[in-house]
Formats: sequence, structure tokens, C-alpha cells
Amino acid sequence: MDLCTYHSHCTFCDGKAPAEEFVKAAIEAGFHSYGVSSHSPLPFDTRWSLSKGDVEAYLQEMERLKKQYAGHIELYVGLEIDYLNDGWGPANDYFQRMPLDYRIGSVHLVTNGETGEMMDMDGSFDDFRENFRNVYHDDLKHLVRDYFRSSARMVELGGFDFVAHLDKISMNGSLVEPMLTEQAWYNELLREYLQLIAEKGVMVEVNTKAYTKKGLMFPNVKYFKWLKELNIPVMVNSDAHLPQLVNDNRELAFRLLRDAGVKSTMRLHRGVWEEVPMSEIKN
Ligand SMILES: [Zn+2]
Ligand SMILES: [Zn+2]
Repeated sequence: MDLCTYHSHCTFCDGKAPAEEFVKAAIEAGFHSYGVSSHSPLPFDTRWSLSKGDVEAYLQEMERLKKQYAGHIELYVGLEIDYLNDGWGPANDYFQRMPLDYRIGSVHLVTNGETGEMMDMDGSFDDFRENFRNVYHDDLKHLVRDYFRSSARMVELGGFDFVAHLDKISMNGSLVEPMLTEQAWYNELLREYLQLIAEKGVMVEVNTKAYTKKGLMFPNVKYFKWLKELNIPVMVNSDAHLPQLVNDNRELAFRLLRDAGVKSTMRLHRGVWEEVPMSEIKN
């Protein structure tokens, strides 16, 4: 009865099926609410983001689906907004004026603070390896610092509801340095970032998308206890790019959050974020 997710994609960006297929899958799985969050437009073309010219069609299609499936599921239209720099991110007017139900703050593209060059730290390891060599000359500490500096700046500027996959840098980063998340300097950066998130009062998601293939949740399960300690509001999102994955690994994430002592989760109900005690979560 409390199934929900607010991070998902469809063919408006890099999702593998039309939004309606995801909505049908969510209804089939018994979801209470479902949010579609295409990758936001960027100031340049990519293979994976919504183009500026498609924003209107995206919003209209979501309106159509809301009407069509009213009474079956609560549908929400969001956007996973990339923070690039102070000139492009969730806080900017362009995104603030868009009639969205909620906004996600996300960092995939990191700018080298010394050279100004940008690289995608997400995606395939082969691409990462090449970009990392070109932009950071294999200096992982430098990349990780720039990633968290950029993320912190996004949180300081605000303009969004929750942070996406807050330590996604560890996915490819750990393939370069398997002990990355054991390093004291890494944990200090992550802890500082979580403290800032707590201070600013934004929510975080537990992102379960990569768990089946890579055994990782974001944030890493080992930090769930810090979410609890810092009283950061959490939700669990599947970040599905395929309709059959709308509920993927969510049950496990809830179990692990409970194990870490987290007592509640966040959901949208009638357009407002509300806290739901874990004891009421059935999955
Ligand atoms: Zn993302
Ligand atoms: Zn996503």
C-alpha cells in the first residue's frame, strides 16, 4: 500500500520505454504514487538528457497520464536536474519557473576546478577511464574532491527537494581504487557533505538501481547509520530505466534502513511530502 518511487526515466531521456509503460508497471505492482524524473536539459546536447525543445511535450504527456490514471495511482512530474556550476542547476530560474511537482538535485558531470574541463563520472567504466585520464590525469582524490565540492555547492544553492545518488562517484571510483570507501579522507568528505545536507534540511534518496548488477546502493549501505544519526529524511527510489524494474531492490533497501535504525521514510501524498513511519511500510 505504500509503494512509491520518485526517480525514474522514460523515452523523453534515456529510459527504455514510454512513460505510460512505467505507469502501467507501477499500477500493476500496486504503487501508491509514482514520479517521472527525466534528466534535465543541459546547455549542450547529450544522448541521455531531455532536450530543451521537448520540455513542453514532456509536461503535456505527464498531464495526460495524470488524468488518464487518476484514481489508480498518484502521478507526479519531476526532473532530475544536473548541477554543472552556478550558471546551470536546480536553483536557476529556468528550472524554478517550470511547473514541476518536485525537483531532484543531481551531479553527473564534474568540472576540474583547476582547468575548467568537465567529465561525466557516471556511465560505463570504459568511458569513465578515458575521461578520467584526460581530465584528471588519473588523480582520483582530485576528482572525488571536485565531485563533493560541486555537490555541496548544489546543496547550498538549493531549489530542489532531494539529492540523487549522493555518492555515485564511488561506483566508477571504486573500480579505479577498490579501497576508496575505506579511506579516511573519502569518509571525511562524505561525512561533511551529509552534515551540510542535514543543515540545509534537504531529503536524500536511497537509489537501488545499481544493486542487482553492482551490489551497490547510493548512498552506500554503510552510511545508512549516518543518515539516521543526522536525522536526514530519506526515501527509496528505483531510478528505473526499464518498466519491469520499478520496484527493484526497494524491499531490501527498506530492510537495511530499518536495520540502521531509520524510523520513517518520505512520500508524496496529494502533492505534499509527508513522513511515513517505517512500521506502516509494507514492503
Ligand atoms: Zn542520475
Ligand atoms: Zn536517474
